[in-house]
Amino acid sequence: MNIHEYQAKERFRAAGIPVPPGEVATTAEEAESIARKFGGTVVVKAQVHSGGRGKAGGVKLAKTPEEARAHASAILGMQIKGLTVEKVLVTPAEDIASEAYVGVLMDRKSQAPTFMVSAAGGIDIEEVARTNPTAIRKLQVDPRYGLLPHQALWLANFLYDDPGLIKQASKVISQLYRAFVDSGASMAEINPLVATAQGEIKAIDAKMSIDDSELFRRPEVAAMRDSSSEPWAETKAREAGLSFVKLDGDVGCCVNGAGLAMATMDLVKYYGGEPANFLDIGGSSNPEKVIAALEIITADPNVKVILFNIFGGITRCDDVANGIVEATKSIDIEPPIVIRLTGTNEEQALEILSDAGFSAFTSMDEVVQKAVAMAKA
Ligand code: GDP
Ligand code: MN
Repeated sequence: MNIHEYQAKERFRAAGIPVPPGEVATTAEEAESIARKFGGTVVVKAQVHSGGRGKAGGVKLAKTPEEARAHASAILGMQIKGLTVEKVLVTPAEDIASEAYVGVLMDRKSQAPTFMVSAAGGIDIEEVARTNPTAIRKLQVDPRYGLLPHQALWLANFLYDDPGLIKQASKVISQLYRAFVDSGASMAEINPLVATAQGEIKAIDAKMSIDDSELFRRPEVAAMRDSSSEPWAETKAREAGLSFVKLDGDVGCCVNGAGLAMATMDLVKYYGGEPANFLDIGGSSNPEKVIAALEIITADPNVKVILFNIFGGITRCDDVANGIVEATKSIDIEPPIVIRLTGTNEEQALEILSDAGFSAFTSMDEVVQKAVAMAKA
């Protein structure tokens, strides 16, 4: 789950990181009055779950409250990478001397939180990683011990020459690690971490992604969810209790059980196809879930064929078959559907499906080959 800059800043402040104050506005008038309250130059910043807001015109300096109002009115409603801006953050502008990058993410390869820091902050860090990898210093954290003080200092030392700045930055890096762990984050980033003309270190941008599996024990973090910023399919899947991951292929997959769903995607690829999604409808044969699954899959215009792969254990195949028949009666589905069912009550299920005019199989190999062929036809 992604959270907004203003929300990440709250978490960072709570961890002690120096973050300039800020308030959120949903109208230009509100932005103006916040700017008036702060006085002086402010920055008006689009709150959307996307980087590169600066480049897209979503971050603007305003010298007067009237200017803040004008910027807010231009930014509110603006589209950035397909997301509509509904809120802006108004924050006092800093007098920036230099911009650095500090980020920590859960690295799956090393199975450890991994820091990346660079003195070349402010811009796209992926670009720096590609064109100038030596400008980035990396450090793996042993989660058993956490980030040790000398490690934080080693990272900060890569960013600045001035001992005062190094000391402040090393503290921020340790605090960022705390915020990362305490929030159940998979990624926490300050870009840019600035040194001001007055020699102070401040976080003027904040980005954080939370591991969905950490949310159940952090209701205060879960409450930060902004469904309006998430792809429709993800919200729909979560509400229906389905595990769904969108992919780029054209074979829509509807499977019970995460392991079987993975195996199905593997087999689709093995036979030369491309899965359009990962979808686990879980152990239930509840028609409501099947309907939700079909709505999600068919909303993807890339999908050319829908492949069901059901292994009936406790789940009864005839229940699933009835679910599919009911679901296809209640919603309009354009792509052809091919189905493989095996296990408990499979004979009854195949009968129900054949009667309703579906191609039903019991062999996983056969059905996947059929689906791939149909997607290519
Ligand atoms: P992003 O483009 O979405 O990452 O948004 P940022 O918050 O990182 O802002 C983009 C850029 O705007 C920064 O790299 C700064 O150069 C500039 N900027 C943001 N806040 C301030 C500020 O308070 N003062 C000044 N002078 N520039 C700022
Ligand atoms: Mn930024």
